[in-house]
Amino acid sequence: MTQYICPCCGYLGLSSLPYEYASGRELIRGVSAPYSTHFGMPSYEVCSCCGFEFGNDDEPGTAPPMTFEQFLAEWIQKGMKWFEPSKRPIGWSLEVQLLHANKAVD
Ligand SMILES: [Zn+2]
Repeated sequence: MTQYICPCCGYLGLSSLPYEYASGRELIRGVSAPYSTHFGMPSYEVCSCCGFEFGNDDEPGTAPPMTFEQFLAEWIQKGMKWFEPSKRPIGWSLEVQLLHANKAVD
């Protein structure tokens, strides 16, 4: 089963591409929200790690638009609680996860 990287937190565990034209293999930084204007149709999947909902958290109208950078900073500030705690690996570290996500770029 193919899994994709969350462009917000780097978690490798999305079951579908977060956006139609996103690679699903890297972090997305320095791009303005909403991301559908850059990357097409969102999946509306919620990341099991950071809880970002693609097409919702970054879309004005349903909530204040958030970039991945803003969302991640807030998530860290709030204590990095996993959206699905049962999926959190033992010894998990955000630092290592982000490092791996950056290395995944070809
Ligand atoms: Zn995430």
